[in-house]
Amino acid sequence: MSAEPAKNARHAARMARKKAVIDATIAAATIERGLLIVVTGNGKGKSTSAFGTLARSLGYGMKAGVCQFIKSRTDTGEEAFFGKQHGVEWHVLGDGFTWDTQNREQDIATAQRGWDVARRMLGDASYQLVILDELTYLLSYGYLDADEVLDALANRPPMQHVIVTGRGASEALIELADTVSVIADEKHAYRTGVKAQRGIDL
Ligand code: ATP
Ligand code: MG
Repeated sequence: MSAEPAKNARHAARMARKKAVIDATIAAATIERGLLIVVTGNGKGKSTSAFGTLARSLGYGMKAGVCQFIKSRTDTGEEAFFGKQHGVEWHVLGDGFTWDTQNREQDIATAQRGWDVARRMLGDASYQLVILDELTYLLSYGYLDADEVLDALANRPPMQHVIVTGRGASEALIELADTVSVIADEKHAYRTGVKAQRGIDL
């Protein structure tokens, strides 16, 4: 056999073995239920990931709720786009970063008001996907009662999917989650002086 046919035969055998393993894994995954997904880490892509999943779910006509904590701006590309789509309820619930507001009591009151909206969604099975964007910061600053938040997540409707984003997800949140992705910060254009770009960063 010349080199190419032998290479092709080895490739086919390797792919057959791989297919058997993948098919067996797919056959073993039979459970249907709502997932708690946590996207954390210092790299860019946490909210982007959540909004990508939002697009995917809306493609199936699912109903979704989005709570954007921390952020106060309502002129983002994501809101301009998803706000026009059928089936999404969008809430901007922040009033800026804690170093902008510089007022702990105000931050706690804002966090609590935001959490009231999120808690309502987590208690309503008609929301098939709930995105809690940047929720982690409200927990790491101690603005919300962590046990109350974990309890609401754990006791949500069984088929409801939830995505929590933000840096520094707690061990308890990671433990509760089904899927956790930690995005690493290898490089970010910001550090070379590039300002946030429309359509890319906001
Ligand atoms: P994105 O919304 O772009 O997916 P993110 O949700 O992962 O980012 P956030 O902390 O919410 O991260 O980022 C909000 C803004 O900060 C975005 O404009 C993003 O590009 C920028 N950003 C994200 N990660 C970094 C980083 N490591 N260094 C500097 N800026 C960052
Ligand atoms: Mg984000």
